[in-house]
Amino acid sequence: MMSAKILIVEDEPAIQELLAFNVTQAGFQALCAADADSAWQQIRNSRPDLILLDWMLPNTSGVILAKQLRTDPHTKDIPIIMLTARGEERDKVLGLESGADDYITKPFSPRELMARIRAVLRRHTPQMPDKMVAAGGLELSAASHRVIANGVVIELGPTEFRLLHFFMTHMERVYSRTQLLDQVWGTQVFVEERTVDVHIRRLRAALESVEMDSLIQTVRGSGYRFSIN
Ligand code: CA
Repeated sequence: MMSAKILIVEDEPAIQELLAFNVTQAGFQALCAADADSAWQQIRNSRPDLILLDWMLPNTSGVILAKQLRTDPHTKDIPIIMLTARGEERDKVLGLESGADDYITKPFSPRELMARIRAVLRRHTPQMPDKMVAAGGLELSAASHRVIANGVVIELGPTEFRLLHFFMTHMERVYSRTQLLDQVWGTQVFVEERTVDVHIRRLRAALESVEMDSLIQTVRGSGYRFSIN
């Protein structure tokens, strides 16, 4: 499975480093920011799957940043876990009211933090329907995240897998790059249209290994189509 990107927004270098270490050890990708401005920059560059947000930050506090993230249509769905040194019930309520999904008090055990991260990610990850899809000689299992062509397992990256899943369930229709971005990447993601081409290329390269790359057709000036004809 794809490893989730966790953005750590924490101004204390030692804690930031510790969090990044724990997150990476747990198999996630760690992005770091020390204040709200660099957090926004990171979010624009690479949409995180979850944000670990320190309550006390210089300039813009974690609570304000959480509220901003919640009001921006591009970021409102990114889950937030608030980190704080305060243990008071009143602050916990404030943190959750600001839009955080969960709350953890410093000092925390890495094990507890990872359990919280996994729980929040599970709640937020849209599940693909658990059934086999077959088309054009390909068999795709969303549950096992596998694609098989004539008995051969095809290795695909997570995005190529979702792209192929979409195509196989929407055959013989042309989709523009924008439509594919909305359908496969989701509407709240900051990616350029040419990203679609990159992943189409990778998908075709993977399908080429079983001589099935012609299933993905380019429709000049319009987009792409999955066709068995
Ligand atoms: Ca701090």
